[in-house]
Amino acid sequence: MQEEIQVHDKVFIPYLSQSEIESGIKELAAKIDADYAGEFPLFIAILNGSFMFASEPFKHLTVASEICFIKLASYKGTTSSGHIITSIGLDTELKGKHVIILEDILDTGKTLSQFLPQIENMQPASLKIAALLHKPQATVYNVPLDYNAFKIPNKFVVGFGLDYNGLGRNIPALYQLKED
Ligand code: 5GP
Ligand code: MG
Repeated sequence: MQEEIQVHDKVFIPYLSQSEIESGIKELAAKIDADYAGEFPLFIAILNGSFMFASEPFKHLTVASEICFIKLASYKGTTSSGHIITSIGLDTELKGKHVIILEDILDTGKTLSQFLPQIENMQPASLKIAALLHKPQATVYNVPLDYNAFKIPNKFVVGFGLDYNGLGRNIPALYQLKED
């Protein structure tokens, strides 16, 4: 792993190597595989951040499963929160299916806490959430996290699909913002 990397104006230091990330994801996939034995789960990966993460557990699964990819868009609405989060690209019927959401990182939990009721409205048989990373110190919204590979401190990270202003997604490992 390179010592330090620069993305735009910021310097990042190594945090998790590619092999550490992959073995964490393998464990997560093994749990899902065991829990869903005999079922036919549907994974919903949330773009853009989770595109790299999503392929990893999927490769290690032995249960027959489907995957689809969605984007979340937030609109200024008339609700008290001022924002409505809605999904783009969800063309699959969820009713009666065992759904697992794949997210890159659970930070404050705001995005998922606003989005989950929409999924629940579609009446899946069950709904679980898997996140590669979780920042417990930053999480203020109540989101049930069923599968998580790594708990990380409340510091900004890039790599493995996660960006800083559009760049850094291609880095195969995880880097953490260097404090000055
Ligand atoms: P939340 O609604 O949970 O606060 O936000 C989750 C989203 O914020 C993630 O899906 C991700 O796109 C972004 N995010 C949160 N923390 C980080 C971070 O440390 N690095 C990057 N690159 N994105 C983050
Ligand atoms: Mg995201």
